[in-house]
Amino acid sequence: MTEITNIPYFKIDKSEHHNVSARTGVIITSHGEIPTPAFFPVATQGTVKSLSSSDITDIGYKAFISNAYHLSLRPGIDSIKSLGGLHKFINWEGAIATDSGGFQIASLARNVQVSDEAVTFRSHVDGSLKHLSPETSIRIQEEMGADIIMAFDQPITYGAEKLDLKIGMQRTHDWLIRSITAHSGASLLYGIIQGGTYKDLRTESANFIDSVRGIQGIAIGGLSLGEPKSVLWDMVDVSTDLTSPNLPKHLLGVGSPEDLVEGVGKGIDTFDCVLPTRVARKGSLYTQFGRINVTNSKYRVSNEAISNTCACYTCKNYSLGYLNHLFRANELLAYRLGTIHNLSFIYRLMEDLRGSISSGTYIDFRNNFMDSYQSVDESVRTEQKRLWAINQDQKQQDFE
Ligand SMILES: [Zn+2]
Repeated sequence: MTEITNIPYFKIDKSEHHNVSARTGVIITSHGEIPTPAFFPVATQGTVKSLSSSDITDIGYKAFISNAYHLSLRPGIDSIKSLGGLHKFINWEGAIATDSGGFQIASLARNVQVSDEAVTFRSHVDGSLKHLSPETSIRIQEEMGADIIMAFDQPITYGAEKLDLKIGMQRTHDWLIRSITAHSGASLLYGIIQGGTYKDLRTESANFIDSVRGIQGIAIGGLSLGEPKSVLWDMVDVSTDLTSPNLPKHLLGVGSPEDLVEGVGKGIDTFDCVLPTRVARKGSLYTQFGRINVTNSKYRVSNEAISNTCACYTCKNYSLGYLNHLFRANELLAYRLGTIHNLSFIYRLMEDLRGSISSGTYIDFRNNFMDSYQSVDESVRTEQKRLWAINQDQKQQDFE
């Protein structure tokens, strides 16, 4: 095993060895330190939906992830710069990561034309014609003042032809070299491993990312797009095994409780995912035994909290009966209270994971968690993903 060397912006405190790669550390940014493993809540439009930045601070988070593509279309980079940059605009003193927008262009924009040079597309916001290249994507993320930025990549949807995946992967590699050249060095730049669910392509991509100089972190992309869990973890294993243990590793788009526990054991340092906040807004709330649906009539007269082991603002102050009413009445407070609880649950889970690694008991923690936590059935998960994809299509049609 390669010797671990601490680098100035990522210090590894403790790593386990007995067949697990779990480790604790700290990512040092110009907006504070992020203890790892950590989860980044998603603030696509510069807000974690229904929460203020102080709500995020109160829960304990040191960082969230926003989206350069969305913010560059609306309100636009000039607006954000004139209002003092992203941190001031949002009123957030912690760290901000930004996604480059490759994924959103693929999923949201209309009339997308991809060449080796750049992506040309029609904005889903106002229909105007836009160009985004590795150079402009890096410039936008840096001018916003993000602390952790992603190289511009071309993710390919799950189930695509292998040849298309290979072309997308090679383009992602070429664009990484251009992203590194465009990068000023004020932020931490992460290169992204692609290659879909093909082991040979993942291997090639991981080897390539590991060979380049000038990146400060490694992101694993193009997963959690509908593939079976076993395939997801095989691809993560390839990606982490073949890349330097010294760099922080980010797993894009993965964030169910059981996946966070599993991913940490594979040496992932940070995660981001819309799942905990998206399901919260539907009344699906986390407990140590699994997700409960608070709209279920059995909670109508319950005076209990969502979880008696949770000390979040929602659980300290409100009963399941009240939450059941808010969700059934479509009251706006339901979104806020549900989101605070789910993000608190995930925050505490990451804290517990860090504690278990520090005390050398990660495997026990994982086994106990998996024994008590009832995961959402694979078929239900796939169906939810399918309905979400239809909803995304519908949003575009509504715009048109
Ligand atoms: Zn709670």
